Amino acid sequence: MKKAFEGPILRANPTLYSHLQPRFANDEHFECGDGWAALIAALSHKLEAVASTTIPAAFRAVQVKQKLGSLRVYVRGNVSEEVRESLDAARQESVYICEKCGSAGRLHEHRSSGWIRTLCVSCAEADGFDPRPAQPDRQGEDHAGCD
Ligand SMILES: [Zn+2]
Repeated sequence: MKKAFEGPILRANPTLYSHLQPRFANDEHFECGDGWAALIAALSHKLEAVASTTIPAAFRAVQVKQKLGSLRVYVRGNVSEEVRESLDAARQESVYICEKCGSAGRLHEHRSSGWIRTLCVSCAEADGFDPRPAQPDRQGEDHAGCD
């Protein structure tokens, strides 16, 4: 994520991100696109409130990344059920937000590499991604109770 987007999030949540190291040569910390900035900002705000209420902090973020098209925030320390639920909710929400631009998105698969990312229609087309067919178990869910 570009410094212009992640910088304010890192500064607003100093306890949560006190141990997060830059991952790239250009000093970027979050291993995902700029489109998730608002989602990560909201999640970070919630986590910072919990992390900063105990001294030393109960937990800290050690990695923020995109994996298989969804947002993963890895934390280390004493993690409550509430924190775990916040992390899960953000992960589930991320597969509906284009990782590049923040528009409404869905899971896509790259035509040649098979990489999976959550993208909007125009970002997907620009980068050579096709919509990913629904997963068999997800289809089952969609059809449940339809008759
Ligand atoms: Zn997009």
